[in-house]
Amino acid sequence: MVYNFSAGPATIYKEVLKHVQKELLDYKGIGYSLLEASHRGKQYDRVHNNAVALLKQHMSLGDDYSVIFQGGGATLQFAMLAYNFLTDGIKGQYVHTGAWAEAAIISANKVCSTTNGSVEIIYDGKDRGYTTLPDPSQLEVDSNSRFVHITSNETIGGLQWKELPEVGSVALAADMSSDIFSRRLDFNKFDFIYAGAQKNLGTAGATVVIIKNSFLEKANENLPPSLSYKMQVSKNSLLNTPPIFAVWMLEQVFSHMNTIGGLEKIEKYNHEKAALLYDHIDSSNGFYSCPVDVRYRSTMNVVFRLPHSELDATFVDEANMSNLIGLKGHRSVGGCRASIYNAMSIEGVEYLIDFMRKFKRKY
Ligand code: PMP
Repeated sequence: MVYNFSAGPATIYKEVLKHVQKELLDYKGIGYSLLEASHRGKQYDRVHNNAVALLKQHMSLGDDYSVIFQGGGATLQFAMLAYNFLTDGIKGQYVHTGAWAEAAIISANKVCSTTNGSVEIIYDGKDRGYTTLPDPSQLEVDSNSRFVHITSNETIGGLQWKELPEVGSVALAADMSSDIFSRRLDFNKFDFIYAGAQKNLGTAGATVVIIKNSFLEKANENLPPSLSYKMQVSKNSLLNTPPIFAVWMLEQVFSHMNTIGGLEKIEKYNHEKAALLYDHIDSSNGFYSCPVDVRYRSTMNVVFRLPHSELDATFVDEANMSNLIGLKGHRSVGGCRASIYNAMSIEGVEYLIDFMRKFKRKY
């Protein structure tokens, strides 16, 4: 048994993988694979629309929201959001909380240099090494901006918003790639949410994009069809061939979430896992340490350091030998990181803690 703590692609529910394996060659008795079926045929149509319906059910969203599944990763959404909403003097406000917020800002700035829109950074956590978040009630939101963009969970920094920022009448847009469906949230407070699927939602290839229709109305129409949210929504994501395997996985993960008790149970389980790991780190007499402000520690990506950075590689190597993989911190920050997404079990976290205990004793 290998426990996979990778940041994404990441561990997937075994039940889902087994189910997909069972149906891979012959989808529900049709005599061929869903992967060979037309994306305009009735089998895929049912899967796609069921995935949309289940997603909306988990988020308690009504007809005032549209959902599309896109290729290109969350990275493409950094640019699409700007192409669609930041034109002709219109401003987007960005909260810079770390590496992924920065990636969103860089793309938006590039786009704005051609669209005449603009990007304003209303918080930059640089001084504190991106280890903390702004007070959610203290952001300087400009009522004339098109949206405020946040990264709900910084995958590399291990930093997660616990309360949503107050943005008044301005639209709230979020990159939820690494914590979507890890907890209950009032999703109706958002106008725009996007998330790559390869962490909590299944496999790489699909990005979930959720848009409030009143926000969509304001989108730029003068865009190539593939980059236009209005067009993608009007075609139910079928402007071109969608990532059908990844969408099928979405459907399977969303339906599995129902069998394990939905977001309420998932949230509780995630809290238990994160508490076990952070408690272990905090009670290690400084052998392990977490640089993140306690108030905003992520329940998804637990970053930690060893007493000397030379020990990092030894830790990762010995963990690998004990069947614990994916624990190397991101190359930009070093240290170690355990990603404990929804599909990581408590047993996996306990096994990791046991390894950490032995490693500490040895070194
Ligand atoms: N945003 C966040 C928060 C992420 O963690 C990642 C990927 N790790 C991305 C965006 C980029 O996602 P993709 O590789 O799907 O473009």
